[in-house]
Amino acid sequence: MYLHFTNHFIHKLFPHYVWRLPTAEKVIYLTFDDGPIPEVTPWVLTELEKYNAKATFFCVGDNVRKHPSIFEQVVAAGHSIGNHTFNHLNGWKTIDNIYLENVKRCQNYLDESQKNAKKLFRPPHGRLSSSQSALLRKEYEIIMWDVLSGDFDQSLKAEVCLQKTIRYTQKGSIVVFHDSQKAKKNLYFTLPRYLDHFSKQGFCFKVW
Ligand SMILES: [Zn+2]
Repeated sequence: MYLHFTNHFIHKLFPHYVWRLPTAEKVIYLTFDDGPIPEVTPWVLTELEKYNAKATFFCVGDNVRKHPSIFEQVVAAGHSIGNHTFNHLNGWKTIDNIYLENVKRCQNYLDESQKNAKKLFRPPHGRLSSSQSALLRKEYEIIMWDVLSGDFDQSLKAEVCLQKTIRYTQKGSIVVFHDSQKAKKNLYFTLPRYLDHFSKQGFCFKVW
């Protein structure tokens, strides 16, 4: 069970997290979680390039370890990088020191690409205890989302995935896609059409 969007109530409940970046400009902040993997990430890079779109990739450290050249492609294309733990841990089921250690282990693989940037973190499943959150905020900006594409949902029809992702997007939205095997079916249908739809409306896709 998940929602395709997060509302003001949730945003107010967790004011320390970044949910969207309200603006009068036609800007969308795309994010891709769980990569990099050779089967999907290079395809995403090609699609983004067609629209001169920049995005933030919340990488799983173990995937960066396994696929360093794919990670380098993401960095070389000028996209932004965020930390998504080393093993995609669920914060609600993991004690603080193990969780923090896992974030740090991921960070070791990202640091070269983030020398001058502010460190970004997104908790897998959006799940983080309040103590984990307080500890991580000393070092990271915690980036959530206001639009969840649901691309990972195998039971979701690709057309519905596209429609809902378009419907909930507004100026300054932070939108979640996944460069993962599980999301491939919906992503391959949705991402090109989504980019096309908003480009035609004069939107651009940026990183912060
Ligand atoms: Zn994830």
